Amino acid sequence: MKSKTQYLYFNTKTRIAFVNITDQVQKLIEESKIKEGICLVNAMHITSSVFVNDNESGLLKDFEKWLERLAPHSPTNHYQHNNTGEDNADAHLKRQVMGREAVVAVTDGKLDFGPWEQIFYGEFDGRRNKRVLVKVIGE
Ligand code: ZN
Repeated sequence: MKSKTQYLYFNTKTRIAFVNITDQVQKLIEESKIKEGICLVNAMHITSSVFVNDNESGLLKDFEKWLERLAPHSPTNHYQHNNTGEDNADAHLKRQVMGREAVVAVTDGKLDFGPWEQIFYGEFDGRRNKRVLVKVIGE
């Protein structure tokens, strides 16, 4: 069995951002030379997510509005976590809803998606350095 571990780096210009990372992940799979296996992609921070969904700009705006209704950023003093001096309690909650990781099958060297599936990095407390782990295992 082969295994390859790599990282993607982000520093988004906005507090909330969605980045389609499908092509970057596919490139790392090609570099791994693994043809059959599993690809794990996970956010390494507790205020960002990795998830699979449709690359449709309206839907991405809908996610943002829906998450903001569920966990509004302000007023920041409504959250106990922010008593620590942080202002990112909403980002922790948004990350929990959108998930930590995606696991996608690798078949014949390619991400084996259903129709319209794409991998996204979801940022909820941006404008700082963040990392995503990509681990490919297989043969
Ligand atoms: Zn925090």
